[in-house]
Amino acid sequence: MKQVFTAENRLNVYHIKNLLETKGIESIVKNDGLTSVVGDIPPVTAWPEVWITDPDMEAYAKEIIEHSKTSDVAGEEWTCDNCGEKHSAQFLDCWNCQSSKAF
Ligand SMILES: [Zn+2]
Repeated sequence: MKQVFTAENRLNVYHIKNLLETKGIESIVKNDGLTSVVGDIPPVTAWPEVWITDPDMEAYAKEIIEHSKTSDVAGEEWTCDNCGEKHSAQFLDCWNCQSSKAF
């Protein structure tokens, strides 16, 4: 077991977990806030964490995570492949023709 990612926002953590699983890397989320009481624990240690079950996949997992940060969080505009409409980074589907963003 190896921890490969942690973030304050559970949604980011589950996003990374899903991303890893679509690449065939088995992973679990710890400290997701649903199973433990935060109480006196300092916020950083209570952040949810993504762990992979196969330590040999660590380098690959980190590469995927790095790539997802640069493509999702950078906030770059993207252009729809289908109709050429421009969108802000937070939109994952084209509002004009409903095509999904190509990753
Ligand atoms: Zn479009």
